[in-house]
Amino acid sequence: MLRHILLILSLLILPSAVQARAAKEDAPVILVSFDGFHPSYLKRGVTPNLSRLAQQGVTGPMRPSFPSKTFPNHWTLVTGLVPDHSGLVGNRFEDPRRPGVIFTMADDDPFWWNESEPIWAAAEKAGIRTATMFWPGSNVAWGGTLPAPRAMAEGGVRPQDWLQFNQAISNRQRVNTVLDWLRRPAQIRPRLITLYFDLIDTAGHDFGPDDARMAGVIADADLLVGELVTGFRELGITPNLIVVSDHGMAATSSERVIRLDQLADPALYRVVEAGPYAALEPTPGNAERLWSALAVAGAHHRCWRRGEVPERLRYGTNPRTPSILCLADPGWLLEAGPPKAAYSGGAHGYDPAAPEMAALFIASGPAFAKGKQLPAFDNVDIAPLLRSLLKLPAATRSDGTAATFNGVIRQ
Ligand code: AMP
Ligand code: ZN
Ligand code: ZN
Repeated sequence: MLRHILLILSLLILPSAVQARAAKEDAPVILVSFDGFHPSYLKRGVTPNLSRLAQQGVTGPMRPSFPSKTFPNHWTLVTGLVPDHSGLVGNRFEDPRRPGVIFTMADDDPFWWNESEPIWAAAEKAGIRTATMFWPGSNVAWGGTLPAPRAMAEGGVRPQDWLQFNQAISNRQRVNTVLDWLRRPAQIRPRLITLYFDLIDTAGHDFGPDDARMAGVIADADLLVGELVTGFRELGITPNLIVVSDHGMAATSSERVIRLDQLADPALYRVVEAGPYAALEPTPGNAERLWSALAVAGAHHRCWRRGEVPERLRYGTNPRTPSILCLADPGWLLEAGPPKAAYSGGAHGYDPAAPEMAALFIASGPAFAKGKQLPAFDNVDIAPLLRSLLKLPAATRSDGTAATFNGVIRQ
């Protein structure tokens, strides 16, 4: 009799338990980036949707990797490697194998990207369908080659759905594209989706993070989150939603400019990148003279030679990193010459430990516990988290660990 009751009970309970587990395992993973969103923006009283997600899920301050720039950090988020190891060592950088060529953010030659595998390539290889509504590097034929400039890339892996970056594609269009992907029949519906917005970063550069005009832009970003979450609900989908930023923003001013041309004779160096940090290459035969001019730290900056960068920055072993790196204090700028006009605004690229550079992390969905706060962690841990949500094996090379999330993941 008892056996019969147990059998009937298990028939009643099991299917729903199995269904629930299947729903949890198959839940799409949606990685959203609000470029330049500082976590303190959540305290401005204009983010009901993001704040609700944080309350219903997991949040915590995330440290970017050095340099706290857009391309290196977005690539770190999807590879789990610090820029020094991922190969994306800056927004602008050189490679000794391509003398005279500078990588810029418009460059989709796989040569620059092939040193580390993004999560969508690993997922596609494992038969998991992916789609990217923008993300630095997502338009690259990863692992392929570009036979000639402006030719079509040969070989390589791309997300099955991807779009060429275009700032003019409206934010609402980006949200609706993601919802349309999720509306598809199961066989062609992506399981991993990225979504990228630049409105916060653009406003942060123009106004500075503390300007009153930021509130309206932060509210706009929050409305986009609201539209996304409403869309999920209407579709009957509960994804694992992870909202991040790549870095924060520090207030800058033309009154806090350190002039490189006053530190060393400009004939001694080329400026590969300037701003919160300067990446310098000595002109031929001038390495020693340049270093003797820059070795002494200033009141608001310090320089190091490649290989001598402090360990905590985890930078300066990749041959793509600059011969000389000069780093300014948060809010200061290293520029080639005098400011062209008086300005105030915002910048990033500083030491990832600076509070101004902190990045956003909010995760919510069936895999995440409710209402949990994490202590500060490094953004190299995001890719391992994504891999564990997708049930991909740990990467062979990784600087991060999913163990950071052990206490907040629902098994
Ligand atoms: P940053 O100079 O670090 O502030 O870079 C932020 C800028 O990167 C944003 O204003 C975007 O317009 C730009 N951006 C983001 N994704 C891409 C992409 N895939 N290709 C080219 N530019 C991009
Ligand atoms: Zn950025
Ligand atoms: Zn920026």
